[in-house]
Amino acid sequence: MLKSFLDVKPDSHFSIQNLPYGVFRLKVGSRPVIGVAIGDYVLDLSILEDKGFFQRTFLGSKKVFGKSSLNAFMECGKETWKQVRTIIQIALSDGNPLLRDDKDLQKIALIPAKDTVMCMPVEIGDYTDFYSSKEHATNVGTMFRGKDNALMPNWLHIPIAYHGRASSIVVSGTNIVRPKGQTKPADADSPIFGPTKLLDFELEMGFFIGTGNSLGEPIAIEKTYDHIFGMVLVNDWSARDIQTWEYQPLGPFLAKNFATSISPWVVTMDALEPFKVNGPVQDPEPLPYLRTQNETFDITLDVMLKTESEKKAVKISGSNFKYLYWNIQQQLAHHTVNGCNTKAGDMMASGTISGPDKDSYGSMLELTWRGENPVKLPGGEERKFLNDGDTLTISGYCQGDGYKVGFGEVSGKILTAK
Ligand code: CA
Repeated sequence: MLKSFLDVKPDSHFSIQNLPYGVFRLKVGSRPVIGVAIGDYVLDLSILEDKGFFQRTFLGSKKVFGKSSLNAFMECGKETWKQVRTIIQIALSDGNPLLRDDKDLQKIALIPAKDTVMCMPVEIGDYTDFYSSKEHATNVGTMFRGKDNALMPNWLHIPIAYHGRASSIVVSGTNIVRPKGQTKPADADSPIFGPTKLLDFELEMGFFIGTGNSLGEPIAIEKTYDHIFGMVLVNDWSARDIQTWEYQPLGPFLAKNFATSISPWVVTMDALEPFKVNGPVQDPEPLPYLRTQNETFDITLDVMLKTESEKKAVKISGSNFKYLYWNIQQQLAHHTVNGCNTKAGDMMASGTISGPDKDSYGSMLELTWRGENPVKLPGGEERKFLNDGDTLTISGYCQGDGYKVGFGEVSGKILTAK
């Protein structure tokens, strides 16, 4: 098994098999640059680039790592991503002396993660949010329309999505201010205005477009992996009372666009490759442009809630990316089949990832079944939805044999409405 010269614990999310990309800065001063997470360190790629480590890749003398976003590197394409990954993996391995035996280089290029602040990794131009969990769509449909009409007639044929708001995507650690909006209480004749009473999280993951497609030129399903750079954890915060009042006829708007949080490290598709598994059986068979090998990824997902009075964060849900009905190849092929263009840095989120069991649901809406069965916390508190002061954290990882390929976490604390 490939090993690093650095001491990386088996339960670290950031093994040498992972090597996710992120944008970081030092806690004291310094501008943001691109790095790779390895164990408890961040490897500054701008320094490796300056030392000529990537000269022999397709990058040549082109500089892409001294930047405040991954976009320039993402645009370089799949072959470059593979070459750069291989060079970083070799440089960090215990068998190669280049970095292992150069203490001076280590001193400037390997930075303890605790001395860094993570920034937004990608300049996100467009954001699309899918609705690809059959369990989630069924749960929500059952609550709002009854069991018999739970899934809309199109759901098993189309990877349903809506266009989200890119400007309010924030990196993990950013506080979330409780939004205000219009709601209509069930017993009222007319709507009222005020802070949402039903603030929720949505357990999701997202993928980033690396190389886009031109307007009018769809991405064929068998070519989709060529365009996908990597993945992050996503929390698509939602205000359920605002959503209920506004969502017909055009779907969610202010209930969703006040904030979406992402994890700072982008895990590449190369790192995820060993964790491919079959997705759920798709019946009816999708139309030809959506037919795939039905591959997805085995990514364990945990949701933790920390209230102000609880001493520790409490796990309130555990799900898995592999439960999703529609896979990312189908999402991207569908997104572009009408000729819609995509660009480097566009984010496509999965939709809430709910599993088959009650403790695997990906939102408070489902976990408490619209508030009917509150989540009970060990200290005696209850939650129907999220309160001010609550911190919601999602973590995710793939389990290898003696190592993890992890995403770290995406976390956000709720602040009182302004
Ligand atoms: Ca969502």
